[in-house]
Amino acid sequence: MTNTGTKKRITPASAAVFPGSFDPLTNGHVDIIERSVAIFGHVVVGVLNNPSKKSLFSEEERVALIKREFAGSQGHVTVVSFSGLLVDFVQSLKSRVVIRGLRAISDFDYEAQMALINRKLAPTIETLFLTAREEHSYISSSVVKQVALLGGDVTGMVPASVARALKSKRVKS
Ligand code: ADP
Repeated sequence: MTNTGTKKRITPASAAVFPGSFDPLTNGHVDIIERSVAIFGHVVVGVLNNPSKKSLFSEEERVALIKREFAGSQGHVTVVSFSGLLVDFVQSLKSRVVIRGLRAISDFDYEAQMALINRKLAPTIETLFLTAREEHSYISSSVVKQVALLGGDVTGMVPASVARALKSKRVKS
């Protein structure tokens, strides 16, 4: 697209950023990452390191589990951890697009509020929502953790490597 006259300058976004806790990665996350790659070509998965939020998996473990799952997608999926403001992280990558997944209407209030706050902080960054697939709409990291730590079968909810990691957490706990 060419920019003409007084029109706002349009610069293409580079990678899209998919931020989250990923404690742990679920098949819902995997699907959003794959669909984002299909649109943008390159997705940076930003693993939030929030010391005030207790997580089952450490920051390093969460990053490693996602990296393992996308080991065959080098150049398309990059996994890094970040702390602090999401908009600062996105700007540091010279990106303008934040991807979030929407499972249900109940996700919407919080997500819309975050998107509006982020727009206030950084007006050039856009938040795009991808709706969860119906078969993933009941899956969340917290439900998966609850089921797995009580000995339930999480096959179909998380990648096999994550299921194994959950099993070893249960053995240790
Ligand atoms: P956060 O603490 O930032 O919500 P999560 O790891 O729980 O981190 O989620 C990261 C993103 O993935 C969010 O946009 C969330 O809506 C989305 N997400 C979580 N579970 C699913 C799912 N089953 N299907 C699609 N998107 C999902």
